[in-house]
Amino acid sequence: MIIKSDKPKCFCGIFGIFGTPQASVKTYYGLHALQHRGQEATGIVTQSFNERGKSVFNIHKAEGLVSEVYADADILKKTLVGNSAIGHNRYSTTGSSESKKNIQPFVVNYRMGNLAVSHNGNLTNAKQLREELVNEGAIFQTTSDTEVILHLIARSKLDNQIDQIKEALSKLEGAYCLTILTDDKLIAARDRYGFRPLAIGKTSGAFIAASETCAFDIMSAEFVREVEPGEMVIIDDEVIQSGQEKSVMISVSAVPKKQCIFEYIYFSRPDSFIFGHNVDKMRRRLGKILARKHPVRDKDGDKVIVISVPDSSNTCAIGYQTQLEKQGIISRLEIGLIRSHYIGRTFIQPGQEKREIGVRIKFNIVKGVLEGRTIVVVDDSIVRGTTSKQLVNLLKEANPKEIHLRISSPPIKHPCYYGMDFPSREELIANRHEDIKAIKKYLEVDSLEYLTKEEMLEAVSEAGTENFCTACFSGEYPTEVDVNFKKEIYEI
Ligand code: SF4
Repeated sequence: MIIKSDKPKCFCGIFGIFGTPQASVKTYYGLHALQHRGQEATGIVTQSFNERGKSVFNIHKAEGLVSEVYADADILKKTLVGNSAIGHNRYSTTGSSESKKNIQPFVVNYRMGNLAVSHNGNLTNAKQLREELVNEGAIFQTTSDTEVILHLIARSKLDNQIDQIKEALSKLEGAYCLTILTDDKLIAARDRYGFRPLAIGKTSGAFIAASETCAFDIMSAEFVREVEPGEMVIIDDEVIQSGQEKSVMISVSAVPKKQCIFEYIYFSRPDSFIFGHNVDKMRRRLGKILARKHPVRDKDGDKVIVISVPDSSNTCAIGYQTQLEKQGIISRLEIGLIRSHYIGRTFIQPGQEKREIGVRIKFNIVKGVLEGRTIVVVDDSIVRGTTSKQLVNLLKEANPKEIHLRISSPPIKHPCYYGMDFPSREELIANRHEDIKAIKKYLEVDSLEYLTKEEMLEAVSEAGTENFCTACFSGEYPTEVDVNFKKEIYEI
């Protein structure tokens, strides 16, 4: 079985490249860097020409990690040939996670030729669009909302492919970042709210599009810019010659940006640059504000030990400890929890409490640094709370003086309709307990403090406090949402 973490499940990672020999190899590296955005399945589609000079698409998709799915190098070198490619790492959001058919990129062949799509995000009007398309005779192959996009493009009556794609995208509501591959173009598109990040890079004359800039660094590519909310960036042979990407706005009606604040809190890698800023910088600031608002002092005046729940909280813990020092509180950042990165599919004996053994397989404590100390455990979020409780129990085995838990986001109370998979509303710890005091009691820690929404926004204020979606904390959704939406809605 797979040991699942008690964290919101990440969306997906997308990648695209145009104008380089062996585009699949670069896509492989890009997807490798984006593995944190989806670990269930991965796929690459490349474009090449057959012996008759006809454009063909080559596809390889399977369940598993990037390193597993492309373990046979011949797949990249002999099957996935061509100078352009798109790729996708998936954690299922809509669509059954069991269905292999839902692995992206999706490919169609229609009157304008071949077209492949990788999608990150979740469409909020997919159900209506799908019903309309089915009523018009469309036959769906998958249960994923992404297939709606292919049908909308393929059914367009317009004659220019860019116009067809623009028309299709203008009908979508909700969150999407896309890389689209055609017989002669790569297109990178972002929804008008800009929920998810998407960046453009360049390497040796080729253009790249990727969910996060860490996918550029792995191949020493240069970051060019982010795709603007509501923008389609088009790369073709002309662009490769001129070095200047083409741009089309999807819709004339601009809306305020609503970037997912969770990308800064937890999802994106700290070495990425998204929404105009380094994730590392934003995560440190979250930690600093957390320390400013909720410092911890040792009751006997001893040194306070700050530890993170690795890896996502590491940077935040640095910010927290730095700020404690600034406030004159003697403290030290320590590695108190060791995380195993080699869990993969782990056997768990039937009858063992899955979550408990899961925590023990994943984490261990460094007793020497925790024993007899006042510890501050910095974490980015609490979802169900079951893992946090097990972690606290584990830490207690080191006999610390006190355990204080600090969370760099507010309590999560509402579902996300834009691509993140939280458990049901009833399962969220913040809904199962009356208030933070009750959660503290359940977790059996000496103190528990979260950032408030205002404090969280203060940390990211450099990127504009108005520019973020905070709906999972506040319930204030920036778009209309179907509160009855269930991901199983499309099961066939
Ligand atoms: S609801 Fe939460 S997770 Fe979803 S897009 Fe908004 S901030 Fe991000």
